[in-house]
Amino acid sequence: MTPSSEVAREFPATLAGPYADGLDLPYWEGLRAGELRLQRCGECGLWIWGPRWMCGQCQVFDPEWVAVEAVGRVFSWSRTWHSFIPELAGELPFITVLVELPHAGGRRVLGLLTEDGDADIAIGDAVSGIIQQPADAPWPLLRWQRAGTPPETEQGEHR
Ligand SMILES: [Zn+2]
Repeated sequence: MTPSSEVAREFPATLAGPYADGLDLPYWEGLRAGELRLQRCGECGLWIWGPRWMCGQCQVFDPEWVAVEAVGRVFSWSRTWHSFIPELAGELPFITVLVELPHAGGRRVLGLLTEDGDADIAIGDAVSGIIQQPADAPWPLLRWQRAGTPPETEQGEHR
């Protein structure tokens, strides 16, 4: 397993920045402020991702944006060997992780792992988010790195 103390791998920007309708603008502004922000319904408490104009559970409009600690567990992952977009052609292979956030009601967010693409990743690995600012992007991006070697009690569970 690659220790997290290594220098985090940086990727070129892809699809960075808010959509024209402004729905996800608070997410991007959060990254600029050094925070991961997700929506949470002020009425029923539901955590929402991706961004929505309205809570899907109680139909209240404009869910608020709340800063969430960017730590979680790998719920699923995928190693990509094929260049689907030119920006990442020189980065193959790379690992995409679906991270479950315990501080956001178990909501799951997608992102790139900063380790080498041949890293020994496993479901259940602890990860933490890091905010990177690619030189070619107007907005920062959230990436994920493993928090380090899991405690002894967890190693056998996932391998
Ligand atoms: Zn609600």
